[in-house]
Amino acid sequence: MKCPRCLNEDPRFFYYGSKGWYCRKCVQFKRICVEDERNQMNDVRFPIEGQIQLKYPLTKAQKEIAEKCAEYIDHTNILINAVTGAGKTEMVLNVIEKCLKERKRCCFAIARRQVVLQIRERLALIFPFIKVTAICEGYTQDLVGDILVVTTHQLYRFYKEFDVLILDEPDAFPFKGNETLHGIAKTACKGHILYLTATPDREIIKEVSLSNCIEFKLLKRPHGYPLPIPTVIVAPKFICWIYLICWLLKKRKEKTQVILFVPTIKKMKIAYKMMNKIFKCCALCSKTENKEEVLNQFIQKKTNLCIATTILERGITIEGVDVAIMDADDPIYDEAALIQMIGRVGRSIHHPSGEGLFLCKRTSRNVKACVTRLKEANDAP
Ligand SMILES: [Zn+2]
Repeated sequence: MKCPRCLNEDPRFFYYGSKGWYCRKCVQFKRICVEDERNQMNDVRFPIEGQIQLKYPLTKAQKEIAEKCAEYIDHTNILINAVTGAGKTEMVLNVIEKCLKERKRCCFAIARRQVVLQIRERLALIFPFIKVTAICEGYTQDLVGDILVVTTHQLYRFYKEFDVLILDEPDAFPFKGNETLHGIAKTACKGHILYLTATPDREIIKEVSLSNCIEFKLLKRPHGYPLPIPTVIVAPKFICWIYLICWLLKKRKEKTQVILFVPTIKKMKIAYKMMNKIFKCCALCSKTENKEEVLNQFIQKKTNLCIATTILERGITIEGVDVAIMDADDPIYDEAALIQMIGRVGRSIHHPSGEGLFLCKRTSRNVKACVTRLKEANDAP
């Protein structure tokens, strides 16, 4: 027996209910019987053409990958392995344009809700002649659009719907390692998947090596500056905090904003209490009620220091920030998370460089691996 939605074949998850066999592995997404026929939406579409609105031209390297993706996507899965800040979204624009022209269904799926809303906005500006629909928690009434931008959780609504499924950061929580979400993504797509990531995990690398998937690499940011390499301070906790405060005072003098990452919500609250006495600061975690407001105030530079959990780890660009990570050796941070957090630095052409600081009691394998990976990308031709 095989679940038609999440592709589970483990018999322990199949139960016999009043309407027949059903899969309990993905039952959280509404019960579905194994015998149920799943339907495609099959809405009629017309070819759409229009002028893409981009404020800046793509670099030669970006353009090359963008064109190759559009050329190959009908025949194979693709992995774009590009460093943080390389402009991954820009590299899929040709694919989206092609889908619109050829009346193909294209979906942009992302693990995190916050990023879904951001990408929707960006795509709506770039493609002003189409309807870009976001589907995520709080936005589930309208499922119709020329392009859909959805959380990976919402893909359960679709069956063999998409000719192209763009999976942004498949190595991010909660998609990473989640078999059910992976299965759901596969059944939602009838064509090919385009993976976008700066930190491909073992699973994707395996897929690239085993299956019908080609990889394009981009190890340079568009402005050509190297990736920032963090300064790693290994010291007892107390010293780390003193070092951090001195560093932050220096940053305040330079008028540089800082994101301070801490591993847990509890530590975020403690750090906020302490730092709020010295700096104009805000705090952000998954439980913060007015997240968008707090973040906007930081973006508008009303606060200098943002103390955050991994909620700000990915997908976010804030002009000119530096990054400090307290307890960088905490096991909650894997190599990818560290790369992503430091990847918030130096993204914009106006602030192409910046500083990163890792504070830890001891150097962990992940800290070392992160620094090595960044150096390798910088040394690549
Ligand atoms: Zn299932």
